[in-house]
Amino acid sequence: MELGEFSIIKQFFSSCGAKKSDCLLAVGDDAALLQTSSSQILVATQDTLVAAVHFFPDTDPEALGHKALAVNLSDLAAMGAKPAWFTLGLTIPQIDTKWLQAFASGLCSLATSTNTQLIGGDTTSGPLAISITALGWLPAFNNALLRSGAKPGDHIYVSGTLGDAGLALHQLTQGSAVSTMARKRLERPTPRLKLGQALLGLANAAIDISDGLLADLGHILTNSNVGAVVYLAAIPHSSVFKNYLEQGGDPMLAVTAGDDYELCFTVPSQNIGDLMDIATSLSCPIAYIGEISSEPGLRLYDSNKNIVTPQRHGYAHF
Ligand code: ADP
Ligand code: MG
Repeated sequence: MELGEFSIIKQFFSSCGAKKSDCLLAVGDDAALLQTSSSQILVATQDTLVAAVHFFPDTDPEALGHKALAVNLSDLAAMGAKPAWFTLGLTIPQIDTKWLQAFASGLCSLATSTNTQLIGGDTTSGPLAISITALGWLPAFNNALLRSGAKPGDHIYVSGTLGDAGLALHQLTQGSAVSTMARKRLERPTPRLKLGQALLGLANAAIDISDGLLADLGHILTNSNVGAVVYLAAIPHSSVFKNYLEQGGDPMLAVTAGDDYELCFTVPSQNIGDLMDIATSLSCPIAYIGEISSEPGLRLYDSNKNIVTPQRHGYAHF
């Protein structure tokens, strides 16, 4: 059988080198958690964007600089961490000063607005690719937002709206007109840092949606050893996405296309009142989309209460 991304990681990289007692969480979540001599936990994550795989080679370099950092900050958000530093591995085919200036501008303005500092990296020549390692802090380990903490009965929520980035990608690959808003969601995602930090102590589990809701929620279900019921009719859509649906678009796009960079999280019922207060005070829209169950697997219902069997759950690299 062919190996996929996750079986490759599991087979070759899930246990490599020493088992350090100060590594509280290694391979398998949105980020690793490391004990330090302070009471805080150091959080580390890495994400890579490769030209023609993760973005069109002619993407606006300013947006690309923003996105390369944003996707990493989104993994810190999914742990409830506050970002601190990052390193930049930049591989470029040639020196193009204008391109570099715009790329740096997008990167640095998100770094500034999130109080994050570039502390090093590596610059090489080759096919265009950007790899960032982001580091941040968690106040404590016991309430970190792990993929493994979901419990039967938890309510499942997502932030923002889903499918806008997927719609932009769909329109771009079809060569059809692309909505400005959807394109912005694809090219300049907003990491949900404030929400992630506010969920500490409230949510039992969290993940950021980078590969499609069904795929990413699937990681929570596998790691938590639980199942879920999800209602397609409850998935939050933007007006642009609703418009696409009204014209006969595919509702599955919102739950299987990647690049949303919203958070999916599970909350026990006693914390829902506090969750609503937080969403209001952060002006962060959140939507209830279903519930965690003890029965394994993900059961997706359409608006007629019929089970939907998705052909795919999300983006797969291999
Ligand atoms: P995300 O989508 O949140 O970035 P991934 O699905 O890329 O997470 O990765 C899942 C887990 O596997 C993470 O803990 C990540 O650090 C780990 N991982 C991915 N690739 C490798 C690798 N080559 N070596 C070690 N760990 C890896
Ligand atoms: Mg992630």
